[in-house]
Amino acid sequence: MAKQTYRRHVNKKGRPNQNFERRNEEKVEAITYQEGITVGELAGKLHRNSGDVIKILFMLGKMVTINSSLDDENVELICMEYNVEATKEEAREDDTLLDTEEDDPQDLQERAPIVTIMGHVDHGKTTLLDYIRNSRVVEGEFGGITQHIGAYQVKVNDRLVTFLDTPGHEAFTAMRARGASVTDIAVIVVAADDGVMPQTIEAIDHAKAAGVPIIVAINKMDKPGVNPDKIRNSMAELGLMPEEWGGDTIFVQCSAKTGAGVQDILETILVVAEVRDLKANPNKPATGTVIEAKLDKGRGPVSTLLVQNGTLHQSDSVVVGTAYGKVRKMTDDMGREISEALPGTPVEIIGLNDVPIAGDNFKVFENDKDARAVSQARMRARIEKERNSSSAMTLDDLKAQIDAGDVKEIPVIVKSDVTGTAEAVASALSKINVDGVKVNIIRKAAGTINESDVILASVS
Ligand code: GDP
Repeated sequence: MAKQTYRRHVNKKGRPNQNFERRNEEKVEAITYQEGITVGELAGKLHRNSGDVIKILFMLGKMVTINSSLDDENVELICMEYNVEATKEEAREDDTLLDTEEDDPQDLQERAPIVTIMGHVDHGKTTLLDYIRNSRVVEGEFGGITQHIGAYQVKVNDRLVTFLDTPGHEAFTAMRARGASVTDIAVIVVAADDGVMPQTIEAIDHAKAAGVPIIVAINKMDKPGVNPDKIRNSMAELGLMPEEWGGDTIFVQCSAKTGAGVQDILETILVVAEVRDLKANPNKPATGTVIEAKLDKGRGPVSTLLVQNGTLHQSDSVVVGTAYGKVRKMTDDMGREISEALPGTPVEIIGLNDVPIAGDNFKVFENDKDARAVSQARMRARIEKERNSSSAMTLDDLKAQIDAGDVKEIPVIVKSDVTGTAEAVASALSKINVDGVKVNIIRKAAGTINESDVILASVS
């Protein structure tokens, strides 16, 4: 106490403290701050009035409010004005939102598998998803009315299974392109009356590239005259040999319309999940991925998050991509408000300051301040990256990398006018023998180069 009184009256050099005469406030000599500190927070640290800080900046021609974030230069200017030394603290977390901590095997518990349904258009993906959802939602609650939040959970033999309700491979690949590995199991739907089609092959390519086990659902078995063995044959030719033929891919026959065989699909999912031994640690702050996000007129940014590890709680401070905020309200796929979400659970949250992008990672931080600092650091990094993003690799770059021994494999996508040409080009390419470099054909197909090709190329 005595020491403090002494400080109030004299400055560092022992001279009478002018400021003390003028202001009846505790003199601060040094502060630390983090990226993105606001005017209000800085004023607090300096034991000054926010209005005074705003005034200083105003005199320098800078218009700010109490909630404006200050850059380093402005923090310095203000601190200089008050003769206070400012030191910047780096954000405590590095800028990755991935779950990098190793979990103690003792903490791990079984979690719900995350399943994506893929396949050619009109082969019944949506019908199958809807059938599973409608037949499995806990009856009676909320009259069974479900919310479309981009993912949902159902109970199968007392175990939870999470379905990503975003048919269309773009969602799957776009997420992978952004570094998110969300899916544990891919169900590829093939209509028995139509057979293997270009998007069936595309789905296989994507699932294989992601290293995700595949279950094949031969759908529309209720249609007259269909031949499921024909599908097995075509799939076997694509490298998915049915179990009953000595391979290791499980094929299930079903009808998304009548529901026949759907239970088999669900049970197969459980079997495959069992083999994969999917576990997570519910006793730590949550990490996961954005499944969907939108701006809602009334509620602001609304995001569907998939909790992949840890448990997400209401009022957690979270960084989502470059956005941050507190989980103000959290609802499940039935629209029920919930206070916590375990690993494998999709939830819709509100409370973020901005709309994240599907495939962004999220992570819970200890407090709001840390969350904001990390989100701002990430925002800057993202802008920087966008600025520096160069065009794709040129052939000269590629050659330089091969010469330097950095490239061991060249992934190639072959597209041509007809499938025969693609086959021929692919086989010729595979025969090219360059020392130490292998050509890996990741897709060969007929048709124009489309968005999905570009995304597959960029991820591979
Ligand atoms: P998606 O494009 O893969 O999502 O396919 P949809 O689920 O929209 O299905 C396309 C059409 O096939 C719709 O008219 C469905 O009613 C129909 N359909 C889906 N599954 C079945 C099935 O098992 N049997 C029959 N007969 N029709 C089906």
